[in-house]
Amino acid sequence: MGEWFAGRNSETANAYGFFMPRGPEVSWASLVWRPEIMLKHRFILWLLAHGKLQTTNRMAYVENKTCMLCQCQDESNGHLFFECSITCTLWNKVRRWLEINHEVNSIEELFHILGHYYKGVSQRMKVRYLEISSMIYVLWEAHNRCLYEGIVPDIDRILRKVQINVYHLWIYVEIEVIHLAKAWAVQIIRMVQIVLKLISSANEFHRRINFIGERRRLYN
Ligand SMILES: [Zn+2]
Repeated sequence: MGEWFAGRNSETANAYGFFMPRGPEVSWASLVWRPEIMLKHRFILWLLAHGKLQTTNRMAYVENKTCMLCQCQDESNGHLFFECSITCTLWNKVRRWLEINHEVNSIEELFHILGHYYKGVSQRMKVRYLEISSMIYVLWEAHNRCLYEGIVPDIDRILRKVQINVYHLWIYVEIEVIHLAKAWAVQIIRMVQIVLKLISSANEFHRRINFIGERRRLYN
C-alpha cells in the first residue's frame, strides 16, 4: 500500500497503476490515438500496428491462405495492407490525393513517415490522418466482405468510399471545433459579466463609504 502514496503522482493514479501496470511506450501511440480519428478506425489501426488483424494466415480453420485480392501470395497483415499489388494501386492513388511523396511498404514505415514528415494539427494534416485510417478500415471491411460474402473489391469504389468518409468526418470535426469555440465564447462572456458586476459593486461600495464619511464630517 505504501507505493500508492509514493512519488509525485496522485494517490488514485498510483493505485490504478498498481492494478493496471503500464506496458512499454510505443512510438506510434500518439499517431493511432489522434482525437480526430474515428474510434472504430483507430481500433483497426491499433490491431494492424500489433499485426493482430485476422488475415487467413492467422486462421487455423481456413485451408486456402491465398490473398483474396491478388490471388498470388499468402495473406498476412503486411501483405494485405502494403505488399499486395491491388493494395499498392490503392496506396498510390491515396498518396497522390493526399500529396504524400514517400513510398509506404509496411506499417512501421507508415508510422515513421507520418511521425517525421506529417506532424501537426493543421486541417491538411487532419485530413491526411482521417484518410489513412479510413482507408485501412475500408480495405479491411472490403477484405471481410470478400472472405465471407464473396464480393470482389473494386479499388476505385474503395477510394471513393474513403473520400466520402473523410469528407463526413472532416465536417464532423469542424462542427465539433465550432461547438467548442462557442462554448468557450459563452464561458468568457459570462466571466466578463461577473467581473464587470464585481467592479460595479466595488464602486458602489466605495461611493457609499465616501457618502457615510462625508455625512459624519458634516454632523461632527
Ligand atoms: Zn494480395
